[in-house]
Amino acid sequence: MEPCPRCDALLGVEGVHVERVERGPTRLTVTVSTPSQVMGCPACGVVAEARGRRVRVLHDVPGEQPVVVRWRQRTWRCPDPGCGVGAFVEQHRALVRPRGSLTRRAVIWAIGQLRHDHATIAGLARRLAVAWKTLWRAVRPVLEDLAGDESRFASVTSLGVDEHVWHHGDRRTKGPKELTGMVDLTRDGGGRVHARLLDLVPGRSKKAYVDWLTERGEGFRAGIGVAALDPFGGYKSAIDEQLEDATAVLDAFHVVKLGTAVVDEVRRRVQQTTTGHRGRKGDPLLGIQTILRAGAENLTDKQWARLTRAIEANEAHEEVFVAWQCAQDLRAAYRAADLAEGRKRAEKVLNSFHTCPIPEVARLGRTLRRWSGAFLAYFTTGRQNNGPTEAINGLIELHRRLARGYRNRDNYRLRMLLAAGGLDLKPPPDVP
Ligand SMILES: [Zn+2]
Repeated sequence: MEPCPRCDALLGVEGVHVERVERGPTRLTVTVSTPSQVMGCPACGVVAEARGRRVRVLHDVPGEQPVVVRWRQRTWRCPDPGCGVGAFVEQHRALVRPRGSLTRRAVIWAIGQLRHDHATIAGLARRLAVAWKTLWRAVRPVLEDLAGDESRFASVTSLGVDEHVWHHGDRRTKGPKELTGMVDLTRDGGGRVHARLLDLVPGRSKKAYVDWLTERGEGFRAGIGVAALDPFGGYKSAIDEQLEDATAVLDAFHVVKLGTAVVDEVRRRVQQTTTGHRGRKGDPLLGIQTILRAGAENLTDKQWARLTRAIEANEAHEEVFVAWQCAQDLRAAYRAADLAEGRKRAEKVLNSFHTCPIPEVARLGRTLRRWSGAFLAYFTTGRQNNGPTEAINGLIELHRRLARGYRNRDNYRLRMLLAAGGLDLKPPPDVP
């Protein structure tokens, strides 16, 4: 039978011809083969004896239905009794890897769906009509190769580091709950940051960060000009030791979060002392919980009215309002249109918070004073806005929810690197 060029183009693998397409009630079945030709033994080179064909079932990129490829694979035998090869079967790496059950393009398709469409392994496995394990076994080695490619670390000049909790289970069986995440915060020519999650390593410690920096090598470390971090002493001393020429900058996202946490703490304390219990439905302070986490500039008139009512309900609530204003002052420093103005506001925060009669605010003031160099550096290194770190954290959260948790840390790392842009998919990856 003459191969049909249109059907062959449908499969898109050169040298593989489509013999038949059958639409069944639950799936599309495509029968394919390569034309017969003379084959030599892979070991000794003697012309091999053709032994007919056998069908191998592969799963291909699905359309509305799963697509099954029936590959009529050729088989041979080496006629030389002295050669150890014996019988062997046809391989076609552009179609599928040896012993693989997913076509090469199905593997690349699945990786693209995981990266760009918030797909899950379980959801894709259903569409492909394969088991979860089958799909992951095909995808995992590709991601491992991409993650092992050091060229993805080239040209990083601005590096962020962030703690990240990956499980809430037992640390005796699952290891440390925290991971240290490295984020690329380098700007492009237009000054925009396209944050990428570069890595996740076990533990939250100076050693975790130092070891990772050491592995990257001298060239990488010398290229880092700005190192952003959350206020954690271990990371700071790793930067001081390993990135001598870099300026350490407190990440704006984390500083603003510290401010929000202070408001929360004050609200809970005042709640407890005024009512004698934790927040209950109907308590005025519990009702404004989310309003207190928002920026003043985003509040609607209705929200302002609710905030005012809750604060005026009790004289003791004034303390919550003052704490909220302090958090707003901190945010305002980062939001200032002009960096010099922002720095002035930040200095005001440094000079006032630590003497505040509200103990939680005073504690934050002392923390910021201890970190004053890295805190103020934000305003002299060109702003590094909240967006990048926040966006990465958001993606990680989203994918953790989508997958309903992870049991294996290595799988978790690979999935998060893929989801948060750490793996280079251009050009399409090799499927080993
Ligand atoms: Zn042979």
